[in-house]
Amino acid sequence: MDENDVHAVRHRLKLLRKTAGEERYENRDGVACPACSEPFDELLATDDAERRFDPPDGVGICSVAGDGRLFAFSHRS
Ligand SMILES: [Zn+2]
Repeated sequence: MDENDVHAVRHRLKLLRKTAGEERYENRDGVACPACSEPFDELLATDDAERRFDPPDGVGICSVAGDGRLFAFSHRS
């Protein structure tokens, strides 16, 4: 995933929460996950190079590094 991909995806998402170095977006438009090509539910974009995720049961996480950031795409099954 390069910088252009990130920007192409981001403008189709709704920003839920923005804190220092981190944003969380909701996918209301069926945008495909760049890692698995299935539509994802939420995207977490963070400046952290390392990050722990604690998804609820049944939620899968795809992660993609790019643009100097880490992107985590969540999927509810
Ligand atoms: Zn995925």
